[in-house]
Amino acid sequence: MIRLLILGATGSIGTTCLEAIRNGLAPMVEVVGLTAASSPALPRLSSGFSAKGRYIDGSDREALSAFIDETDPDIILNAISGAAGLPATLAAIESGRSIALANKESVVMGGRFMLSEARKHGSRIIPVDSEHSAIYHLLRGHSARRLIITASGGPFRDREDTSGVTIEEALHHPTWKMGRKITIDSATLANKGLEVMEASLLFGFPSDSIRVVIHPQSVVHSMIETAEGGVYALMSPPDMTLPILSAIAGEGQGLEDIVRPLPFDEGFSLSFQPWSPERFPMLALAYEAAAAGGSYRIAYSRADEIAVGAFLDGRIPFNGIRDVVKEVLDGGFSFHEPESYEEVQEADRIAAERAYRLC
Ligand code: NDP
Ligand code: MG
Repeated sequence: MIRLLILGATGSIGTTCLEAIRNGLAPMVEVVGLTAASSPALPRLSSGFSAKGRYIDGSDREALSAFIDETDPDIILNAISGAAGLPATLAAIESGRSIALANKESVVMGGRFMLSEARKHGSRIIPVDSEHSAIYHLLRGHSARRLIITASGGPFRDREDTSGVTIEEALHHPTWKMGRKITIDSATLANKGLEVMEASLLFGFPSDSIRVVIHPQSVVHSMIETAEGGVYALMSPPDMTLPILSAIAGEGQGLEDIVRPLPFDEGFSLSFQPWSPERFPMLALAYEAAAAGGSYRIAYSRADEIAVGAFLDGRIPFNGIRDVVKEVLDGGFSFHEPESYEEVQEADRIAAERAYRLC
């Protein structure tokens, strides 16, 4: 049996995982522990799985480490949202356990420092994000010179003017049902920007060799291009159950029929189109931050998270998100790649201070 601890068990990724296990899709997985920030759903979820449940803030590394020791998992699914996921990832790394990593912010903010800690402690990081899960599997069979990440384009793919966008409109994603922060990030394409940085760090590709393409059906999860010019793609219906369970259980571990088959009998069409920096300035800013490197990635991620929170609280308009992030980045950051958690925290603090002043 694979002993599983889920951090952020009450959210979209956490509950998708638990529902799949409850439905018998991963009989080799035993849930041993669940954490949340404050959701009242936690006791019911943990008693349903005879697992230990604990309210632990992501920033409380000590409490997380103690809970990891207490539950003794083989693998930890980090499904906490936002920057609070980074200290949680670091606690998981210190334990030397394998990590199924949904929290993309911890890759973007922790960067090379976090990855070198993982190597030092022998902790394996397996991506859960559907695009990265696809690339992770594709790269095991082939070498590539370029990565191609797909984006649904979100609810405003075809909308010229986003100045009057309401919270409800922005929370209505056409293909995926997810937590609030990532849903807004998908509407601005900041999510894709974070994913370009995540892929660059996880797979060691410079950001200018990672292309984003709009693919409204969300069936092709991402692609890799070989030196010869061939392109390999991974396709499945848009359902996070597959990338979550394959990160936890691995391939060839008896996972079967996790998602429904693609409807080849009925026929279906797939389309791809380029994205424009005018329509999606947050993705353009992400490429700039990725190219600048150093603390710029941290600042992008943190400023975006604060601006998204301000939008969801009704304090700034939808287009204010990009204005805040641009202004925070324009303030200037170190090009030096953080080499310790303290350096990451310092960049985070500066970005947060600037962003809060603007929101
Ligand atoms: P949700 O907002 O739905 O859930 C977040 C979870 O994290 C909840 O369990 C919440 O607990 C917990 N949490 C939030 N803040 C803290 C904190 N400060 N300390 C401890 N726990 C905290 O998020 P999602 O499930 O949508 O996303 C989780 C992560 O996975 C994100 O990084 C996202 O980018 C990534 N991801 C999500 C996808 C999706 O389909 N949803 C797809 C790909 C990646 P509580 O309920 O108690 O507040
Ligand atoms: Mg994704």
